[in-house]
Amino acid sequence: MSKQNELVPPPLKNDCFSLPADTHWTPVSEALALLKERLHVCVGTETVPLFAALGRVVAEDVVAQRSNPPQPNSAVDGYGLRHSDIIEGPQMLPLVAGRSAAGDPFEGELPSGHAVRILTGATVPEGVDTVILQEDVTTDGTAIAFRGPLKKGSNTRKAGEDVEGGGLILAKGRRVTPADLALAAATGVSQLLVFKRLRVAVVSTGDELAEPGQEARADQIFDANRPMLLAMIAKFGFEPIDMGRAPDEREGLKKFLDKAAGSADMILTSGGASAGDEDHMSALLNETGSMTLWRLAIKPGRPLALGMWAGTPVFGLPGNPVAAKVCTLIFAKPAMDALGGAGWQEPVALRVPAAFSKSKKAGRREYLRARLRHGRAEVFKSEGSGRISGLSWAEGLVELPDEAMDVQEGSQVLYYPYSAFGL
Ligand code: AMP
Ligand code: MG
Repeated sequence: MSKQNELVPPPLKNDCFSLPADTHWTPVSEALALLKERLHVCVGTETVPLFAALGRVVAEDVVAQRSNPPQPNSAVDGYGLRHSDIIEGPQMLPLVAGRSAAGDPFEGELPSGHAVRILTGATVPEGVDTVILQEDVTTDGTAIAFRGPLKKGSNTRKAGEDVEGGGLILAKGRRVTPADLALAAATGVSQLLVFKRLRVAVVSTGDELAEPGQEARADQIFDANRPMLLAMIAKFGFEPIDMGRAPDEREGLKKFLDKAAGSADMILTSGGASAGDEDHMSALLNETGSMTLWRLAIKPGRPLALGMWAGTPVFGLPGNPVAAKVCTLIFAKPAMDALGGAGWQEPVALRVPAAFSKSKKAGRREYLRARLRHGRAEVFKSEGSGRISGLSWAEGLVELPDEAMDVQEGSQVLYYPYSAFGL
């Protein structure tokens, strides 16, 4: 009998389809709490003009350099008058010569018993405290006739009613939006101190990977993670650095990590993160002594190899594109925010009725590729973590809790649009 025939495959264990009870699977919230506690900003600051500040993270509290509006102005096209001149019922007021237009204010004070033509955005002349809408008067060009009473101050905007000079407009850690640019510009801010963009290197690992656009052997697959991860980083507002594909071989991979650590603030790798023969990422990080293999109670995902390489934090993502994307959204994105100066950010979920049913066991959090249609969350037809088409089909993720859940059509579930993560 050959030696081989003596080998008997081990019997299936009773619990072969359940989560191992003897190992501790770290709950997602515990993993996030650890990241929140341990990560801090690791980039410097720079000053950028307002026009180049979109998406950047503000590095100090920004205060208004002047009030908005700087002076009282009119909210409508109409006539400015003194409230004390107005009586109840019909009346007439003579018009003074001249007018107040936006950018061309009326000089001098309105004499009592008079009205002055005023246009939207124009400075309210001295003496005027109330503006009547032009639709509410009749005029021959020398006087206006209208009906009192009017509310004092109506149709005027007070100086600083929007923002007071010196008031906080953008808090440190805020990611600048187009509306923030309007607010900063309106209050006289023309440049912002921002954090330098966090540089995030992306390395794909796996001997089976071929470069998109190049010849691939029949047994090879195209590297799908790299273009996705680089694009996600760019959309998050960080600086992606493409490090290419590393081989499933320790010395080779080492060189990639050295290079990445030399040019980035954080390294994202995909593949080789588990504890198998070809899982060189975890093996290498293990050698540094800084590695923690995070056995996460999450589907898809599970093993995440976290460690430091030459002083640079490394997130070793699983190779499956679905798991790689979910782990990036759930773990790497908050880490990038923390390292990049935006502080700890939590995505905001919508609570919506499910358009699917599913019975989920206790013990891990699950993320399903999903999208909203008619106010309900639909999920992709397959949960297979190699199904890249589902990632592209989806517009967000449904999160099912760590506990068991029996989802019926119409049950309330948590839905995170991709935009909740900054995508
Ligand atoms: P690994 O985590 O290295 O064991 O890989 C898990 C699965 O993901 C395998 O089927 C790999 O072929 C696949 N995979 C790993 N990296 C990539 C990648 N960059 N693009 C597409 N699939 C990948
Ligand atoms: Mg691999």
